[in-house]
Amino acid sequence: MNSDLPSTPLLRVQGLNYRYPSGLEALREVTFTMGKGERVGLVGPSGAGKSTLLLHLNGLLPERLPRLRDASVYLNDEPVTAATVDSIRRLVGLLFQNPEDQLFCPTVEEDVAFGPEQLGLSALQIQERVDRALETANVTALRSRPVSQLSYGQKKRACLAGLFACEPLMLALDEPFTGLDPRSRNQLVDLLLRENRTLLVATHDLDIVVRMCDRVLLIDNGKLVADGATAELLGNTELMDQHGLEVPLQLKLQD
Ligand code: ADP
Repeated sequence: MNSDLPSTPLLRVQGLNYRYPSGLEALREVTFTMGKGERVGLVGPSGAGKSTLLLHLNGLLPERLPRLRDASVYLNDEPVTAATVDSIRRLVGLLFQNPEDQLFCPTVEEDVAFGPEQLGLSALQIQERVDRALETANVTALRSRPVSQLSYGQKKRACLAGLFACEPLMLALDEPFTGLDPRSRNQLVDLLLRENRTLLVATHDLDIVVRMCDRVLLIDNGKLVADGATAELLGNTELMDQHGLEVPLQLKLQD
């Protein structure tokens, strides 16, 4: 990142520490920023703290949100605190690992409309957003279908439509490609690339990171251990080895 840029970063995480109520220290002094339009891969071995970090971005953790002076996460310079969390949640669209945790209305259309309905928009504005989001996520044909009858990949796309409908400033995606067949995975990558949004994507699929992201954050044991350009970072065999990861095939083939 160019730290000389005068503009405010879209996301600033500053010295973020988090310990689960069980006592487990899941994040230690995590610090980074993200600018508008960046697509960043969040990688690391299982249990590194990726999901925990994403949950912090829209105030789902900690259990008791901080006061202003203790804030560690800022969106557009607005700290995530107990007082701001409701408005902040509108800024970050968080895709949960498991779509079952995200979908709760009977039909796709109702689910996609739920977010906009909370934003105080008119019925027409809600309908326009829902139509647009269904189209963008390629689920228009499924709009009247019961959520419970969708395939796993269709559920993921329905979840994304729900996020798009809220028009967040950024998307934080937790393992969006896990459980998808290769075709659905490619469709999802294409859809996300077409949309040109600010993205933070936690994934084990490092080949997709090479395809989608210019920059990577590597997290291990709760610490951010590297932050750099995708090819350079994921192509570093020693670094990958140290953190239980493998250089993605595409980068190996380039050698
Ligand atoms: P990742 O997403 O990188 O796999 P997580 O953020 O899920 O990692 O987990 C980070 C650490 O926090 C792990 O050691 C995990 O076991 C622990 N952890 C995750 N959720 C909880 C929880 N609800 N209570 C206690 N520990 C948890």
